[in-house]
Amino acid sequence: MNLREKLHLEQQSKALFGQAQGYAFDYADDALQRNIFPTEQALKDLGQFAEDLPTATGDSAAILEQLHQYGSPATVAQTGGRYFGFVNGGILPVTLATKWLTDFWDQNTALQVMSPITSKLEEVCEQWLKELLDLPDSTVAGFVSGTSSAIFCGLAAARFRIYNNQHWDFNQQGHNGAPPIRIIAGRHTHGAVVKAIGLLGFGIDNIEWVDCDDQGRIIPGQMPALDNSCIILLQAGNVNSGAFDPFVEICDNANAADAWVHIDGAFGLWAAGTKRLKHLTPGMEKAHSWSVDGHKTLNTPYDSGILLCRDKEALVSALQATGAYLTSCYSESRDGMLYTPEMSRRARAIELWAALKYLGRDGVDELVVGMHQRAQQFADLLKSADFDILNDVVFNQVIVSPSADDQTTQSILEAIQQSGECWVGGSLWNGQKVIRISVCSWVTSEEDINRSAQAFIKARDSIIAASDK
Ligand SMILES: *Cc1c(COP(=O)(O)O)cnc(C)c1O
Repeated sequence: MNLREKLHLEQQSKALFGQAQGYAFDYADDALQRNIFPTEQALKDLGQFAEDLPTATGDSAAILEQLHQYGSPATVAQTGGRYFGFVNGGILPVTLATKWLTDFWDQNTALQVMSPITSKLEEVCEQWLKELLDLPDSTVAGFVSGTSSAIFCGLAAARFRIYNNQHWDFNQQGHNGAPPIRIIAGRHTHGAVVKAIGLLGFGIDNIEWVDCDDQGRIIPGQMPALDNSCIILLQAGNVNSGAFDPFVEICDNANAADAWVHIDGAFGLWAAGTKRLKHLTPGMEKAHSWSVDGHKTLNTPYDSGILLCRDKEALVSALQATGAYLTSCYSESRDGMLYTPEMSRRARAIELWAALKYLGRDGVDELVVGMHQRAQQFADLLKSADFDILNDVVFNQVIVSPSADDQTTQSILEAIQQSGECWVGGSLWNGQKVIRISVCSWVTSEEDINRSAQAFIKARDSIIAASDK
C-alpha cells in the first residue's frame, strides 16, 4: 500500500477519530481529579519522545496511543478548577466542541473566497464585540493568536496614523529620517507591551515611564505633556493586581493633543461587557485601539487574541504595508487577512462566535463576575488565615504575601505547587516576592477555592514549622 492509499483508508474508517475521542474523554474526567502539575514520573516519561526521526511511515493508532499514554500525564491540568497560574483561562464546552467540528473543515481564513463561513462569523464577532464592549461604530477587529500579537498590530496602526498625519509614509520611507514618535507607558506595563515596542523599533530605552499608585495604576498627574507624536499605553487589568488605569482623563487629554491611546486589556477588557464590573472601565471607548484575549477570561480554546481598532484605514494600511488599502480589498465581504499580519490563519473566530452566542450578555456577566467573586473568596479566606493580601481585589487577581521574607515566600510557593492540590505562580510586587492567584476558569467552584486555601495554609504552616526547628 502506498502512502496515499494508507491515508485514504484512515480517513475513510474514522477509527482514529474514535480513538482520539476516547482518549480525550478519559482526559477530561481525569483532569478534574489529578495532580494539577505533572508528577516526577510523568516528567521523566517524556524521555519516551526522545526518538530518532523515523525513516519508515508510522502507524497512526500507535502514534495517538503514545501521545495519550505519555503526553496526557505531562500536561498541566488547567482545564480543572484549581489551576490559578499566570492568567490562563479554562475552556467552555461549546467552544471545544466547535473546535473539533471546525478542525474537520480546516479552513484558511485569509480571504472570503477561501472560507465564506469564517468570513461571515468574523464579521458577526466584530459586530458583537463592538456592542458588548461599547466601542465606537467605526471599530474593526483582527483575529490573531493572542494579545501579544494584538498589541503589535495596535501599535503598528498607531505608528501608521501618527506618521500619516505628518505626511510621512512609514511603509515606504521607514524609520530612516522619520520624525520621532514618543512612547508613554506606566511603570506597571505588561512585558508583552514592552516587547512590541522593541519589535516595532521604537526603542525600549525611549519609553517615557509614568509613575503608578499602590495598585499599579498610572497616576494621571504624572503624565507628561502630550502632543501629536505620542502613543500612550494603558491597561485594563494589571497582570498582578487586576487594577484598571484611569482612562477618562488620560484619553481626554490624548484626544485633545491628537495622540493615540492603546488599551491592553488581555483579560480585563471583558469587564466592559458585564453589568456588575463595567464600573472598572469608564472612558475605555475613548481610546483608539484595544487588545484582548479570548483564551483568558472568556475561556475559548487557545489560541485566540483580538485587536480592536477604531481607525480601519490605519490598521489595514499598517498591516498590508500599503497606503492604498481599498485597492487591496479583494471582495465586498470581509477578507480577514486585511486585519492581521498573517495571510493564512486558522479559523479561531468561530470558537469566539460560539462562546459569545452561548454566553450572551448575561452569561458574560455571570462568567466574569463569578471569577471576581471567587477571587474575593480566596482573598477573604487567606486574610482570615493571616496571609497579607497586597491588592484591592477589583477583578480576578489576588496578590498574596505569606511572609515578609522572600526566601520563605519562595519555599511556601514551592510547597503549594508540590502539593498537587492547586497551582499558583510567583511574581514580584513593588520589589517583594509574592504569590499571584488568577481565577480564570468557569470550572472553579467555591469548593475548589476552599480546598486551595487549605493547601496554602498547610504549606505555610509546614514551612514555618520546619524553619522553627
Ligand atoms: C497575558 C497578557 C498579555 C499577553 O497575552 P498573550 O495572549 O499571552 O499573548 C498581555 N498583557 C496582559 C495584561 C496579559 O495579561
